[in-house]
Amino acid sequence: MTNNEIWQAVLSELELNISKANFNTWFKNTGIVSFQESHVVLCVPNTFNQAWIEKKHHQQIIQSLERITSLPIRKLEYKIENIKNVTELTINTSITPPQAHQEEKVSFSTASQSTPLISPGFSINPKYTFDNFVVGKGSELAFTAAKAVADRPGESYNPLFIYGGVGLGKTHLLQAVANELLRKNPQTNIMYVSAEKFTNDFITSLRTGSSRDFQNRYRLIDALLIDDIQFIAGKDASQESFFHTFNELHQANKQVILTSDRPPKAIPALEDRLKSRFEWGMIVDVTAPDFETRAAILDKKCHEKNFPLETKILHTVATIVQSNIRELEGALNKIIAYHQLKNMVPTQESVKSLLSSFEDVCGKSREKKLSFPRQVIMYLLRNDLKMSFPAIGDELGGRDHTTAMHANEKISKEVENELKLKQEVELIRQRLYINNI
Ligand code: ADP
Ligand code: MG
Repeated sequence: MTNNEIWQAVLSELELNISKANFNTWFKNTGIVSFQESHVVLCVPNTFNQAWIEKKHHQQIIQSLERITSLPIRKLEYKIENIKNVTELTINTSITPPQAHQEEKVSFSTASQSTPLISPGFSINPKYTFDNFVVGKGSELAFTAAKAVADRPGESYNPLFIYGGVGLGKTHLLQAVANELLRKNPQTNIMYVSAEKFTNDFITSLRTGSSRDFQNRYRLIDALLIDDIQFIAGKDASQESFFHTFNELHQANKQVILTSDRPPKAIPALEDRLKSRFEWGMIVDVTAPDFETRAAILDKKCHEKNFPLETKILHTVATIVQSNIRELEGALNKIIAYHQLKNMVPTQESVKSLLSSFEDVCGKSREKKLSFPRQVIMYLLRNDLKMSFPAIGDELGGRDHTTAMHANEKISKEVENELKLKQEVELIRQRLYINNI
């Protein structure tokens, strides 16, 4: 069976359980990108379809694939890609029946791009490298320091502490160090975790009496990279554990790198002894990119995504979206998705009108005409896409997660009590999910 035939068979099973409108909306332009052993990558036209399919049909698809191929499916992943690129490549490829030979397996490189490199149990995304980090005034120092650390871990600055607002490249730089260390020596034992994960691991180890395992896991390593260390504040036992971990690693000249949304001094409820440890090495900040850097980043991302934009349009985007790089990427993705769906060439007008709402609801204004739609968006992101509150806050202009929680609560109540609002929200859902794609 070709990938295409398998997918058609899956679709015909799914079709039985879904309304026609929904089916056409969500499964148009989908396909199998690769099928290797028990790992399947599906191509979907945009993030919205991905979120929907993943949320509503993930399990069904797996079951269907298993039924049709008689193979166990361990992993189903999604990739945003134009179906045309995929069908040409997948036609005539055949998938292996369970007993057949290795060589016949379908494999092609598009899928492996997004497969994270696994270092002891944690994923480091290979797409975060120094090479694809665009250096601007606001990130120059952090970039240089991170490179120095990757060149001579444990020797140059220990710890390296990178801080700054959301979406400015902290995680990118942190993982770039990891990728560089792994590139130079694939055996390097790197522990990359969020402070939240560290805390959870620590708590689990207490609960299950596996403190020694925990210690070994975090101390018998070459480098410890902790993202968003500010989350450890106020968690006393975790801070204590981290303090000892830090001391041990530091004494053994093992590199420690931390990121945070603010400098150590400004992290409330962080023990003084930790603050002072963080100041032992180098503290660097990343700040919002200037216009030239924003334009350069956009240009690079356009090339990466193979979707060139005219310079004039590129500058328009760089002018409108100023806050951070994640938002810049979001704007670009939106432009790409929209124009691909409509099969249109981007123009100044189409891009401006697309980004006008982006700009307003993500902006600072608290006027009701903007704050109310912003809250409804937060409510929809929470309820329909099940996004986390911090992620919702980030998406809508780097707001605090409590703002998103509040908005969700408020709108949930209002939807229950006000028929008109309820109908409007339903209308938005219909337009978003059915008519507009
Ligand atoms: P933070 O951790 O500071 O919130 P991230 O590192 O997650 O931000 O960056 C958000 C997105 O922007 C990522 O996809 C990242 O690759 C991209 N990005 C950030 N800074 C740059 C840069 N200087 N050059 C290229 N891409 C960047
Ligand atoms: Mg981050």
